[in-house]
Amino acid sequence: MTDTQNPDDNETDAAPRDFIRDRISADIESGQHAAIVTRFPPEPNGHLHIGHAKSICLNFGVADEFGGTCNLRFDDTNPAREDESYIRAIQDDVRWLGFDWGDNLFYASDNFEQLYAWAQHLIENGLAYVDDLSADEMREYRGTLTEPGRPSPHRGRTAAESLDLFARMRAGEFEDGAKVLRAKIDMASGNINLRDPVLYRILRADHPRTGDAWRIYPTYDFAHGQSDAIEGITHSLCTLEFEDHRPLYDWLIDNLPVPARPRQYEFSRLNLGHTVLSKRRLSQLVEEGHVTGWDDPRMPTVTGLRRRGVPPEAIRDFIGRLGITKSDGLVEMSYLENTIREHLNQTAPRRMGVLDPIKLVIENYPEGETEELDGLNNPTDESAGTRKIPFGRELYVERDDYMDDAPNKFRRLTIGREVRLRFAYFVTCTDVIKDAEGNVTELRCTYDPESRGGDSPDGRKVRGTIHWVSVAHAVTAEVRLYDHLFAAEEPGKERDWLEDLNPASLEVRDTCFLEPALADADGVVQFERLGYFAPDTNSAPGALLFNRTVSLRDSRPKAKG
Ligand code: ATP
Ligand code: MG
Repeated sequence: MTDTQNPDDNETDAAPRDFIRDRISADIESGQHAAIVTRFPPEPNGHLHIGHAKSICLNFGVADEFGGTCNLRFDDTNPAREDESYIRAIQDDVRWLGFDWGDNLFYASDNFEQLYAWAQHLIENGLAYVDDLSADEMREYRGTLTEPGRPSPHRGRTAAESLDLFARMRAGEFEDGAKVLRAKIDMASGNINLRDPVLYRILRADHPRTGDAWRIYPTYDFAHGQSDAIEGITHSLCTLEFEDHRPLYDWLIDNLPVPARPRQYEFSRLNLGHTVLSKRRLSQLVEEGHVTGWDDPRMPTVTGLRRRGVPPEAIRDFIGRLGITKSDGLVEMSYLENTIREHLNQTAPRRMGVLDPIKLVIENYPEGETEELDGLNNPTDESAGTRKIPFGRELYVERDDYMDDAPNKFRRLTIGREVRLRFAYFVTCTDVIKDAEGNVTELRCTYDPESRGGDSPDGRKVRGTIHWVSVAHAVTAEVRLYDHLFAAEEPGKERDWLEDLNPASLEVRDTCFLEPALADADGVVQFERLGYFAPDTNSAPGALLFNRTVSLRDSRPKAKG
């Protein structure tokens, strides 16, 4: 589990290739399928996370590349944990990621009547029976990896008796858990999934779509493959944990009068460091208030990444670079962050903002005077144009851009040293004002009026350039800096996973000063020298709120290899 996958190994601009795409190509060439149909089958019991994005990119991606279709199918067979709001949120997330299912929206619950008829068909053919064992007893009878299972005392029930009981289960005559319908396969099978797996359970709960029509619900194993067959799925792509279920998938398809013969292929799931990719755990984080919601920008959910400012193209690119394999690995969060940086570097306008402000006063700049300077929107792409940046005698600069008695290699402000103010002037620090504790509260400087625009007037060089914001023109904002949600790379490996939460995952800077062009920012921007920042969904004029999407470079210590 700990070998680290290196996405660079797969980096390529050519059409992606992997064992699944090879298989699909072969199936098309051999005439096995005229057109391919895939599906993305979320269970509507939570929001999607970046692991689901891998499955989405694969299923929609291959459909697109091979001229096929990809269905969006809600696998809504467990009403206890499902909710309409998740159905809407999942559709939003898939669309935002850049994929479109067209008219191909399906619900497993639409197949309930057909699935019931097929369950009856199995009973009639001696391939399923109603069992009265409790869940605990069933586990005991099932045996272990080394011990074969034992037949339930009800295994010999006649078809007529099972059919009658099954109908009464449906009618709500029995308590939850009192009976189940099981396939009759092989209690001694080496594959435990074939030891008479449960096909239906009693759950006297209302369903978001079928209301109180059903008191029994099919299991994943019974609903999934048959729904694939109904929809004409040709390649049912799922994660490796379903590999051991494939014999059951095939057994059901072989023994039922289904209209098509889908096949299941498994690939490895995405595991990402310093976070968790499990809806159960993510919903626990939300319910227990460890985060502010599914869309908390620290969450690895699609909605969290979106709120944080991550472009969908970066997510697709990240997934594409990882490739599709059968080997389980752990991907470092820094690979995702690097991909996000690459994308934002191309697209994000440059702006200036000061997150830890200290005042800088230019003593020889005329009092009350201001001017507008031109700032390039993207210094590496002049076609991005310029904006006006107001300048005056009083500025905010970053507190750590000043140092007392700085060593020679410190390229920023210290008494006697000259630096460039980005797009503005050369300034020399002449003095500082300190409070009673000796903390610097103000920097005093002089400027060279001949250096307007930040150009050297006489060829003399300065070693550093710092960003700034005019005090008189600054807009105030709250800025939220994020770090890993979990301090441990693999939460839960050494201790309870919740104990691995990073107590420093959120740092709030409540009084930051930004250049006025940021007052109406509507997308991700780069704050020069600091990182990429996105206006939060709750940001409003007069109450600006920015999320740091990602810093400019990874300043964290390298993980031990
Ligand atoms: P979770 O473990 O987060 O609860 P799940 O598998 O129960 O996920 P589903 O809604 O059933 O969630 O998943 C929909 C599809 O997404 C399935 O085909 C599943 O295999 C796939 N999927 C889920 N997690 C990952 C992951 N980490 N990497 C790749 N695919 C995933
Ligand atoms: Mg699942």
